[in-house]
Amino acid sequence: MTISFSTLLLQVDPPASDFTDVLFMVVLSVMLIVLSAMSGRVNMGFQVPGFPRPLSASRKKILLKRFPYYVNLSENKRRRFEQKVQYFIHVKEFIPRQIPVVTEEMKVLIAACAVQLTFGYPKIFLSHFKRILVYPDNYYSTINKTYHKGEVNPRMQAIVLSWKAFVEGYIDQEDGRNLGLHEMAHALRLENLILNAEYNFLDAEVLESWQRLADEEMINIANGQSSMFRDYAGTDPDEFFSVAIENFFERPEKFKGLMPNLYGILVLLLKQDPLNSN
Ligand SMILES: [Zn+2]
Repeated sequence: MTISFSTLLLQVDPPASDFTDVLFMVVLSVMLIVLSAMSGRVNMGFQVPGFPRPLSASRKKILLKRFPYYVNLSENKRRRFEQKVQYFIHVKEFIPRQIPVVTEEMKVLIAACAVQLTFGYPKIFLSHFKRILVYPDNYYSTINKTYHKGEVNPRMQAIVLSWKAFVEGYIDQEDGRNLGLHEMAHALRLENLILNAEYNFLDAEVLESWQRLADEEMINIANGQSSMFRDYAGTDPDEFFSVAIENFFERPEKFKGLMPNLYGILVLLLKQDPLNSN
């Protein structure tokens, strides 16, 4: 007598309602859920312990109301952006200076600014800079006895911002001036040099090409011949980079039109293109 394998299997298998079978399916399902959750988090570069909750509805509302970069993203990218904002707020210490508290709106928008700059790098959170100090307005620096709008202080592991100047940077989003992006860009370059988990993430060859073209443009600025950047960009390579970042996000069309090579290198360096961001 011949017997097909399928019939044999049917005979060998216990009925679906068998208790051990149900238990096996439950255990398998739980394992799959845990594994998929873990892989999702690992892919984002997050540690599973202490992973912050999803961005709250009220924080999303702030992004929708105030942050066009986020609004213009696709649904998928918005989710990624939200996760990065939430994680940034979770790991940084926001310290109020001359104000009672750092408000939710301040936290969300400062985090969003850092995420805008680092959006091409899912695992980069400018981790050396653990503290964000927020002043209401320009503040007096006792070190060089002048008023500041913002600074990055690697020794204090701090990014310092005047809230007024930060907001002004985003009110006009096409003037090529943005204090938040300017200071975050300083932090980005420093972070790349500091020996920690985020060390050396910027491609060295791309950085070299950047510096060659930046040096040429800095000579143009010194000769009063730059059609793109304000004079301050000629101060030193760090200021040039920060001013270029402001223009990259605020005036990408003009930047690309006048200096396609320099613009193209920034696209490679930041792994994103403001002219094609959604
Ligand atoms: Zn600067």
